[in-house]
Amino acid sequence: MEFQEILKFIKEEDVRMREHFYPHFDQEKVILARAVKLSEEVGELSDEILRSLNVQRKEKMDGHSHETLAKEVADVFMVTLLLAQSLDVDVQTIVKKKIQEIENRYNK
Ligand SMILES: [Mg+2]
Repeated sequence: MEFQEILKFIKEEDVRMREHFYPHFDQEKVILARAVKLSEEVGELSDEILRSLNVQRKEKMDGHSHETLAKEVADVFMVTLLLAQSLDVDVQTIVKKKIQEIENRYNK
């Protein structure tokens, strides 16, 4: 899947979510809801990492697999893109710029 296809999906999902989950939210509330959602997803990914390292409590270990961990990585990625959409951040442009900055660190 090309990155452009992912961004197209994010734009469509943004519209669907606004209609379905928060039709009465203003833009500030959408941003706040997504920022909180991102924290939730980072927490879920953290839990999966602890489970993968076998350092989570025994009763929290049920159902863990590489697939459940990978899905939480995807959740963090998707919610980050949705938050960027809400913040009017051009992800493709800024990621290219960031990659160049990182490359420059090694080419001094
Ligand atoms: Mg999740």
